[in-house]
Amino acid sequence: MNSHFPKLKEHLKLASSEQIRNMDSFGGNLVNASPIGDMTILFLALNSDVIILDQDQNKRKKALKHFYQDYKTYDLKDGELLKAISFKLPTMTSFFNFEKVCKRTHLDIASVNSAIHISVENNRISEAHISIGGVAAIPKYLHETSKFIIGKIHSSVTIIEANNILQSEILPISDVRGASYYKRLLARQLFFAYFMELFPQQFTLNDFLQHV
Ligand SMILES: Cc1cc2nc3c(=O)[nH]c(=O)nc-3n(C[C@H](O)[C@H](O)[C@H](O)COP(=O)(O)OP(=O)(O)OC[C@H]3O[C@@H](n4cnc5c(N)ncnc54)[C@H](O)[C@@H]3O)c2cc1C
Repeated sequence: MNSHFPKLKEHLKLASSEQIRNMDSFGGNLVNASPIGDMTILFLALNSDVIILDQDQNKRKKALKHFYQDYKTYDLKDGELLKAISFKLPTMTSFFNFEKVCKRTHLDIASVNSAIHISVENNRISEAHISIGGVAAIPKYLHETSKFIIGKIHSSVTIIEANNILQSEILPISDVRGASYYKRLLARQLFFAYFMELFPQQFTLNDFLQHV
């Protein structure tokens, strides 16, 4: 995992504390169904499938992006166990990142967390999976935003237009982790930040500042 995701250790350090990380499991984080579950957001952007076993050991597969139905409601029947998770490994042309904003860096749940897995070939976006937490009742796979950018030129215009779609896909509520407008702002900033972080030669803050 570390060789495929060089920043994984950094990402994991942002999830709760060492004590909690030593005890909890990926399965628990996914089935806990928290809208801000860190591992859930990470695996959603990897366009993962979950493998589910029933009590008779019958297996079924479900795309994680279709697993969550409503707040803490998900496609798991009594007696079913989430057995495994599978996803395509990053390639030479794909880029992955995870970001989390909280009131403090460590041992805090996110105000907003998000992840992206994007493939770019010949300056065109060939595949994209974007997820975001803390802005809806479920950990959210951004179906429309992801669909919108696929096939588009990898440019600041595309990214700025995509943010409009992203904003229409989310519905954050105001709570102790931030006001609704603040979470929308975070969603936009994290989305723009991905491109500056993953493609520093191509995008600078100035490309986006004129639109904010
Ligand atoms: C102090 C503290 C800080 C935390 N900070 C964070 C944080 O920063 N980020 C974050 O994402 N979370 C955080 N959490 C939440 C915690 O990480 C999750 O609750 C944890 O991931 C759950 O994992 P678990 O293995 O303990 O699951 P459990 O609590 O044991 O299970 C959660 C639910 O999932 C079900 N379940 C578990 N595994 C499976 C399976 N394989 N198949 C089917 N059902 C299953 C259980 O029956 C239960 O209903 C924090 C929790 C605490 C207490």
